[in-house]
Amino acid sequence: MLNLIIFGAPGSGKGTQSELLIKKYGFEHVSTGDLLRSAIKAQSELGKAAKQYIDNGQLVPDALIIGLIESVLEERRPQHGLILDGFPRTIPQAEALEELLAKYNTRVHAVLDLQVGQEELVDRLLKRGQASGRSDDNLETIEKRLAVYHAQTAPLAAYYADKGVHHAIQGSGALEDITARLSQVIDALN
Ligand code: ADP
Repeated sequence: MLNLIIFGAPGSGKGTQSELLIKKYGFEHVSTGDLLRSAIKAQSELGKAAKQYIDNGQLVPDALIIGLIESVLEERRPQHGLILDGFPRTIPQAEALEELLAKYNTRVHAVLDLQVGQEELVDRLLKRGQASGRSDDNLETIEKRLAVYHAQTAPLAAYYADKGVHHAIQGSGALEDITARLSQVIDALN
């Protein structure tokens, strides 16, 4: 059972590639962004607390996100392995994840870091915003999210490289070519 983190900037294709990998391998998908958007729709306490941060392009506070992941892992004990999408996004989140997985006698096996140039990221997110109407996919918020990514999330690449589990993956080109590159890493772990 593998636990993977699909990592990368907003717009790098984490959600899309997660879906494709799930079809192929049957992982359980845990997307903190999707969970938060559901919480907002349901107008839960978490949703109410998270909405302002998301709409501002900021990260939701670690304590809320770590609590969320804790309850998700309790609910759906990872049977077929996990793809964590959009989590962790800060070093404290990564440390909390390590402790949580240790409770289940497991760990992060690989971090798949989708690398896409800045211009392409902005382009993709603007297009997604037109199609989906996602409240944070407008130019002002996109630019904020990319800055937040570089300041708070990108340092995780070095954190996981130190642990020997970081893999850089070329994230532009045809969808199936990107899936094939990700699969190569996953198959080598199996
Ligand atoms: P994207 O990768 O395109 O930014 P996500 O759906 O992963 O899309 O995240 C959307 C927003 O949800 C983020 O900008 C942030 O506000 C919030 N969010 C999601 N995951 C986390 C997390 N692990 N920590 C803090 N905030 C998060």
